[in-house]
Amino acid sequence: MSITEAFGEFRTGKTQLAHTLCVTVQLPPEMGGGNGKAAFIDTEGTFRPERIRAIAARFGIDPDTTLDNITVARAHNSEHQLDLLNELCIRLCEDKQYRLVVVDSIMALFRVDYSGRGELSERQQRLGQMLSKLVRISEEFNIAIYITNQMTADPGATLSFAADTKKPIGGHVLAHASATRLYLKKGRGETRVCKIWDSPDVPEAECTYQITTGGIND
Ligand code: ATP
Ligand code: MG
Repeated sequence: MSITEAFGEFRTGKTQLAHTLCVTVQLPPEMGGGNGKAAFIDTEGTFRPERIRAIAARFGIDPDTTLDNITVARAHNSEHQLDLLNELCIRLCEDKQYRLVVVDSIMALFRVDYSGRGELSERQQRLGQMLSKLVRISEEFNIAIYITNQMTADPGATLSFAADTKKPIGGHVLAHASATRLYLKKGRGETRVCKIWDSPDVPEAECTYQITTGGIND
């Protein structure tokens, strides 16, 4: 019943985590799942059915059924992204089995559509409308929302610890809408680190994970 946001550099596994969640949401509750379907709004063309198949195999569930339980829609611009959410609401009313909605990535199209400096307040206003719709979906239909986000290009990149001076984009509007914010970063070798950046019910903590053929593994 709330939004979880994962932000981080490219290749930290935000999209891989999205795929993994689309599978694990279908598992029975005793396996940590939600026994439900997933909807995936893809703004960057990164949804890969073959990833779903491989992750389903890891959890020992049928790849075809798993794919059938995931509704995927490709958004082409920010207005279309909003339209797709409206269409999704209709589907969620008709089919109460959905437990997860993914938007990967939440900001990419807004960044393209409102690239001028003077357009920032309009962008934030439209973004706010979309996020309040997502919050409403999460509460009304008892659904977990997972969104991915990018980070600012760092003006202080020449300073030390530059990575830690970067921030998620989307400003206060996004910060306010995301209940739980996760910061994903590269760790040693092939490992990645997930840090709880903000949460209403979990203390600050971090863990390491790896991206594997079978999805995110901790
Ligand atoms: P971006 O910001 O560019 O969207 P992202 O955080 O979404 O990046 P992902 O696409 O989730 O990043 O992760 C990419 C990483 O996943 C790459 O390092 C790639 O090597 C790894 N990866 C992709 N497919 C597999 C696989 N089948 N097995 C293991 N690792 C994989
Ligand atoms: Mg991605």
